[in-house]
Amino acid sequence: MPPIAARDVAVIGAGAAGLVAARHLRREGHFVVVFERESQVGGTWIYTNKTEPDPIGVDPNRPVVHSSLYASLRTNLPREAMSLREYPFVAKKTGHRDPRRFPGHREVLEYLKDYATEFAIGELVRFDTEVSRVSQGENGKWEVRSIKRKEEEHHLDEAFDAVVVCTGHYTDPRIAQIPGADRWPGKQIHSHNYRTPEPFQDQVVVIIGSSASAVDISREIASVAKEVHIASWSTSNEEDQSLPGFTNIWLRPMVESANEDGSISFQHGFKISADIILHCTGYKYSFPFLDTKGIVTVDDNRVGPLYKHVFPPSLAPWLSFVGLPWKIAPFPQFEFQSEWIAGILSGRISLPSPDEMMKDVEAFYASLQASGVPKRYTHNMTGYQFEYNDWIATQCGSPKTEEWRKKMYSAASLGRKERPETYRDEWEDDDLVLQAYQDFTKQIS
Ligand code: FAD
Repeated sequence: MPPIAARDVAVIGAGAAGLVAARHLRREGHFVVVFERESQVGGTWIYTNKTEPDPIGVDPNRPVVHSSLYASLRTNLPREAMSLREYPFVAKKTGHRDPRRFPGHREVLEYLKDYATEFAIGELVRFDTEVSRVSQGENGKWEVRSIKRKEEEHHLDEAFDAVVVCTGHYTDPRIAQIPGADRWPGKQIHSHNYRTPEPFQDQVVVIIGSSASAVDISREIASVAKEVHIASWSTSNEEDQSLPGFTNIWLRPMVESANEDGSISFQHGFKISADIILHCTGYKYSFPFLDTKGIVTVDDNRVGPLYKHVFPPSLAPWLSFVGLPWKIAPFPQFEFQSEWIAGILSGRISLPSPDEMMKDVEAFYASLQASGVPKRYTHNMTGYQFEYNDWIATQCGSPKTEEWRKKMYSAASLGRKERPETYRDEWEDDDLVLQAYQDFTKQIS
């Protein structure tokens, strides 16, 4: 169907979300410019051994390293479930590719580069170009100020009908607030700056958190460290509890305080002498370039108000966000959100009125509060990502999520929980893999 209106759209970021947004916007007939401060596509998946000089990321003026990948990282979702619907993430057996079902991070970067090549997205991207300001002018257009790296004195101001923010949310560390941490003599680091286990040789390490990264990193560090103590809310018993299969990993309740004598006190009175605290405590949403005159705020990690995690009601559809939710399969959700945004911008799909959208947002926030969900979990989609995706699919008139993908996502989540050491190499859902490849074959042929 020809577009009703073609818009000038700025996409900020050329990670997976930005690539997918650019693809769908152009397919709809819009004119797209993608701004990317790195010199290649891929965002998070561009591994670097560089780390930030402030290891816990509290200094607002620190030089930023975007990616939080560690060297050994393999995906925590099988490639079929991660896959974009339009461009299957099939195993390639050529020399430099990693055909494993849960591949290493380089394979994901290669996949995203292939996607960008397939749909000629690179030609839309301005590399080495950082967006320093986005604001709405009096004529309603969005003014985007960008700076080309190496030419920092020259910025460029341009006007767009719409801006799609695709800047990711795994760069700005959240750290645990530990009483006494400022006077504790040991080292502290956030997982954002973790790359390899060697610096932890013979150390006593306290890891805070129980995310997928915490699980992987604790096992890796235990191979060289003297002791690893994992502190999390989910461990509440007072007994010493070592992790089955490991002699030097201990499950502890939350840290109560860090003490000047170098010790760490856990709840229920247990105390150890430790060398390093590693915060695996997640990330903060941050949009330092975005000036919406207070309309969109980040409050306790809630980006809002946003209709369906995408549109601020009073600025819709001219400002939108792709990729805010977590505890999801991100790539396919980027496709749903991007198709929706592209169709709304052209006028092919309609949105409710700003008042109706705002009422929907308020009802959503009220339901979270009534269920005791903390504000900082606003974008946590545990249990309803597919319902959400299918709702968007209905708006777009597109096919809903494949049944095999839903089941495969659940199987992977269970495997990760029950068999964290082996789930990437042993599984029982070959029937779903078969169904996925049947779909992929239709897609490719
Ligand atoms: P990003 O990939 O972060 O891309 C954002 C881009 O915006 C970057 O290229 C950045 O340079 C650019 N940018 C930011 N600010 C500006 C600016 N001001 N101007 C210009 N450019 C800017 N997902 C999975 O599907 N499977 C996994 O196994 C998996 N494992 C993960 C493991 C870790 C440790 C982490 C951190 C994430 C993992 N993810 C995984 C989630 C991953 O973040 C998503 O898959 C996805 O890559 C996010 O894409 P994005 O485009 O939203 O963000």
